[in-house]
Amino acid sequence: MFELPPKIDLAQKSTPLHLLPRISQKYGGPRIWIKRDDLTGSVLSGNKVRKLEYVLHEVQRDNLDVLITCGGWNSNHCRATAFVAAQLGLKAHLILRDDGGFKSDGNYLLDKISGAAISVYDEKRYFAELNSLFETWQKHYAERGLKSRLIPTGGSDATGVIGYYAASLEMSSQFETLGLEPGYIVCASGSGGTQAGLTLGFSLLQSSAQVIGIAVCDSSRYFDNKVVADVSQWQKQYAPQLDAAQLLKNLRPLTLEAYIGPGYAKAYPEVIRTIQELASEEGVLLDPTYTGKAFWGLLSEIKLGRFDGVEDVVFVHTGGSFGLFPYRDMFL
Ligand SMILES: *Cc1c(COP(=O)(O)O)cnc(C)c1O
Repeated sequence: MFELPPKIDLAQKSTPLHLLPRISQKYGGPRIWIKRDDLTGSVLSGNKVRKLEYVLHEVQRDNLDVLITCGGWNSNHCRATAFVAAQLGLKAHLILRDDGGFKSDGNYLLDKISGAAISVYDEKRYFAELNSLFETWQKHYAERGLKSRLIPTGGSDATGVIGYYAASLEMSSQFETLGLEPGYIVCASGSGGTQAGLTLGFSLLQSSAQVIGIAVCDSSRYFDNKVVADVSQWQKQYAPQLDAAQLLKNLRPLTLEAYIGPGYAKAYPEVIRTIQELASEEGVLLDPTYTGKAFWGLLSEIKLGRFDGVEDVVFVHTGGSFGLFPYRDMFL
């Protein structure tokens, strides 16, 4: 099939997989299980560190010095990258987007504490010039004799896919131990890499589980295409022995776009209520940008009947706790 490439161990694994008994009962649908990737670490916590394990192996192999990456000002991915760099004695440079709501809080505060170099651009300039900003900073370090690795948004590319391909193997062995055959595996989709890796993994495992990405920003068409693009890139780069046409034919990406609300990082009342509900009923903390929206989507889809007749669904908790604090006013 596909042998996992070497990685650096950065994440706490395997993360727990457990039932949410009270929420499952309350909604009267399938049993809802949760894969606790919010527990992959402290400052490295969440889904991004699983991707970074493979990226950082290549960075060390190639003797690179600087990690340059980008994201929203409250990005979990940028925070994890900043701390991974510090942990491994590398430099990090974060290209951050100010959508108008910038605060020295949440993940940004941690980025500062980590000592990462940070450049903040307003939203308009960021979107118009992102590629050239990456080039500019890469050149800046090259002129100082330092070699950079450019990591795209959310670490979602051919290398990033491997993190959640590996997670699908971890989950599959947990399913076997528990005697579970989930009908659906649900995650939040922000840059698509988590969904891509899981979709690839469960497809290669010939599992009957359907992976659902719940979009928190772009359209379902965008994410369906992104999953195919990331997996195609992955196949070319890491698994040339696989038949690309067959692989893509079996992939079955599925994204729901009904839960985005007003836009990326914009929470709405149902999301806030879902966060409070899961915290108080199950002692699990979701976040307003990703997992709160995705879990609200899961609960809504139960009510709409999507999972009728399905015994078990698994929600992948992709982290994000630090990103919650700038939303404090919405919880009052
Ligand atoms: C980045 C992120 C996601 C989305 O994962 P992608 O691989 O970017 O789609 C979901 N949840 C949290 C908490 C994140 O930080």
